[in-house]
Amino acid sequence: MEELKRGISRRNLLKGATLSAAGVAALGMFGCSPAGGSSSSSSKSDAAAGEKKHTWEVAPEPIKDIAETVDTEVLVIGAGYSGTCCALNAAQNGAKVTLVEKDGVPNGHGVGGTGAIASKALDALDIHFDKSIEMERWVSTCGNRCRESLVAKWFRESERCMNWLLDLAESDGAKCMVTVGSNSTVHPEIDCYHMIFGGNLAKENEAISIATYIEYLFIAKAEETGNFELVYNMPAQQLVTNDKGEVTGAICKNEDGKYVQYNASKGVVLATGDVSYNDEYIDEFAPIANKVMTRLCSDQGNTGDGHNMAAWVGGAFQDGPWPTMMHPQAAAMYHGPFLFVNPKGKRFMNEATWVQGKCVGTMVNGGDDHCWSIFDSNFEADNTASLEFGGGMFWDSFRAVGTTAADASASHAKTVKEGVEKTPENYKVADTIDELLAQLDVDVDEAKKTIERYNEICKKGEDTDFYKESHFLFPIEQGPFYATKVAPGLLAVVGGIAISDNFEVVNAEGEPIKGLYAIGNCSGNMYAYDYPINVQGNSHGRCLIEGKCLGEQLAGVYKEQ
Ligand SMILES: Cc1cc2nc3c(=O)[nH]c(=O)nc-3n(C[C@H](O)[C@H](O)[C@H](O)COP(=O)(O)OP(=O)(O)OC[C@H]3O[C@@H](n4cnc5c(N)ncnc54)[C@H](O)[C@@H]3O)c2cc1C
Repeated sequence: MEELKRGISRRNLLKGATLSAAGVAALGMFGCSPAGGSSSSSSKSDAAAGEKKHTWEVAPEPIKDIAETVDTEVLVIGAGYSGTCCALNAAQNGAKVTLVEKDGVPNGHGVGGTGAIASKALDALDIHFDKSIEMERWVSTCGNRCRESLVAKWFRESERCMNWLLDLAESDGAKCMVTVGSNSTVHPEIDCYHMIFGGNLAKENEAISIATYIEYLFIAKAEETGNFELVYNMPAQQLVTNDKGEVTGAICKNEDGKYVQYNASKGVVLATGDVSYNDEYIDEFAPIANKVMTRLCSDQGNTGDGHNMAAWVGGAFQDGPWPTMMHPQAAAMYHGPFLFVNPKGKRFMNEATWVQGKCVGTMVNGGDDHCWSIFDSNFEADNTASLEFGGGMFWDSFRAVGTTAADASASHAKTVKEGVEKTPENYKVADTIDELLAQLDVDVDEAKKTIERYNEICKKGEDTDFYKESHFLFPIEQGPFYATKVAPGLLAVVGGIAISDNFEVVNAEGEPIKGLYAIGNCSGNMYAYDYPINVQGNSHGRCLIEGKCLGEQLAGVYKEQ
């Protein structure tokens, strides 16, 4: 179990996956890019074990033995979504750009589902949203602790940046599919998740999966500019500062273990991702992440290197705890709105909630890293009925706008059938409740009582135990009976380095550190407390917006919207 908590490889999940109109759930939402090269392990430091200072609080001795010096204008550190986007936009606008990546491949941490509040793809579907409402939902999910001016920039820039991405993708022959959100009154999710897939690059190169397509596209386009260089297996170790404390470059370590100093006249951009694989950061800033069953990024390169480097030159962090992005799909993909039973055999929450809610409810209210969702043979029809009032991430199967709730349920029925055959540890079926419960790691007697009680509630039509809305109450009566394993997985910790609205890293006084920028998951302030999903895919959306705006800014062409 401990090994699972520290991370498992799920990279094979995306192999050979294709998109169906019914949805993308079957793709294996959690496949990351195939990691070819280095991958640092978690680093629980001595500091966490009792010494006073954390790693980020003690700047190391400056590296002196520089084997090679390279002059560039913009140095981007980290070839994920935000870093590759920034590099392309700086290069396309005339800056000389160097992108250094610790790994041997670019990392696409997602399936590329990018959220936007408006776009030409949404216009074509006649879908429009109210920015005021969605931003207020976002901010309140963040406990009003995110910086609203930064979030407002997301909303101002979203349409422009998404349309640019759509044009770019179209120029490579790629398609865009927008998926359906949730009809929930309490946790609505808008239809704004833009899945971009099927481009020529991916057709020509088997190594490019749906999870990495956008990064490869950005890199390919940057290479066309002639003023861009990407260096793999080149982890940045330290920043270089001048006598005024301004950042002028970074020192990286090449494959021979030699140090290369990059001098960047226009700026150094930290795009090093989150702290998922650094236990010292998790313990200090996101302790709830210790409760998940699995960390879901297979390459494990996100060890907070950018956070450390920023702090060592005086950069501040946003206040903790940092929000975690979590999905309860670390075991089974499907559980819908049906009964959850924990290992003690007890019901412990309202199950018809959003993905983050299911995770936190399981870990905090249930007191465990998994539970079981139990439903009967009517689940396909019940799921369809429930989607009138709920849905969204995974409950609605990421189906395309234009498909029906019945399509989503049919795709789930297929997932469950295949799960029973291929991953029986996560999907169970039996003709009787007794036989089903015997297969689960639950207290059987308690679980039987729980199911009886749940059926009474369903008959009564009012859930006085957890007040789940009555249209989500489906009795468990008709065999065969099913159980699917609900398991929280950590996707990312979306908090970090304090930045200005122009992505400058700031010190504890809020003053920018000249020459240093942070974007994507390593940067803070865009989120706080919890990760909002009302605008699905907004994390990729922020990588797009921050990467594009900062790239333009460093090339001197950015126009404030
Ligand atoms: C399985 C999974 C699915 C997801 N799906 C979605 C989705 O569909 N939609 C969405 O909005 N969000 C999704 N996310 C969230 C995702 O983390 C972010 O949206 C986004 O991809 C983060 O991009 P980034 O550029 O900040 O960092 P990353 O993509 O994490 O990239 C950081 C890069 O920096 C490199 N790096 C780290 N340290 C160094 C160093 N010292 N020197 C050089 N390079 C370094 C890393 O190797 C990595 O390549 C998903 C996350 C996971 C894990």
